Amino acid sequence: MAEKIRATVQEIKIISERLRIFRLVWEGIENFNFKAGQFVMLSSDDFLDEGNKPVKRAYSIVNAEHEKSYLELCISKQQYFSKFLFEEIKEGDVLNLEGPFGTFLLEGCEQNITFIAGGTGIAPMVSFIRTLRREGCDKDIWLFYSTRKEEDMAYRKEFEEYAKENKKFHYIPSCTRACENWKGRRERVTEFLHEYITTDRPCYICGPPAMDQAVKDKLREIGVSEKNIHVEKWG
Ligand SMILES: Cc1cc2nc3c(=O)[nH]c(=O)nc-3n(C[C@H](O)[C@H](O)[C@H](O)COP(=O)(O)OP(=O)(O)OC[C@H]3O[C@@H](n4cnc5c(N)ncnc54)[C@H](O)[C@@H]3O)c2cc1C
Repeated sequence: MAEKIRATVQEIKIISERLRIFRLVWEGIENFNFKAGQFVMLSSDDFLDEGNKPVKRAYSIVNAEHEKSYLELCISKQQYFSKFLFEEIKEGDVLNLEGPFGTFLLEGCEQNITFIAGGTGIAPMVSFIRTLRREGCDKDIWLFYSTRKEEDMAYRKEFEEYAKENKKFHYIPSCTRACENWKGRRERVTEFLHEYITTDRPCYICGPPAMDQAVKDKLREIGVSEKNIHVEKWG
């Protein structure tokens, strides 16, 4: 069942000029129950539409499924509500939170799994990977993550450390534009996915709409079946 909560911004972590991680806490309910991959609707009493109703936007939950006493959201700065979040919201401020919603859910850990994220599309993937890690998933997990700028690569240290600790976790980041000192891959994920993924298995995609479509086409070309292609649509 969806909850409606008044949540306090406990912490705002600045990742880059256009990327922040918000941590929200609340009083009144103990746990916020959700499944990895789901999202919440966020609004503020101080940001209203023309009809004087709070503007609402969807944000994917980043924390693992068992972490229910707070919410972590990874938000990029666009033009409207997210701009308000970046420019007006401070630690200690209160936001309205509604959820959880969504059907972009993991189908367990019976087979090797592939996650493909672009930009802030990394948010639900972090939740999936943290949840699988906590549950001790023993299958191969691949994460392909592309950003335009190296500085926008969120959760990099966490993924690099996890890849060192678990040889079955494969982290393949790619920086596609402003990447002066970047030593890793620079192509779009569709240009090299086939080097790593050659067989049918569950694949989860979240990124800008054009990327979603291109990745879907590429996966079909590789031979991934429709039932194994899961896309979270943000557009
Ligand atoms: C399921 C889901 C999960 C998502 N998860 C995340 C996430 O984890 N992280 C993340 O960063 N984003 C996420 N998004 C995207 C997010 O919901 C917002 O779309 C994003 O933050 C941009 O919102 P915005 O209002 O700032 O943006 P904009 O893209 O600038 O505007 C969006 C719309 O707002 C309206 N608008 C814009 N400017 C004005 C104006 N001046 N006056 C009136 N209306 C205006 C227009 O209708 C415009 O199309 C998710 C989206 C979905 C659907």
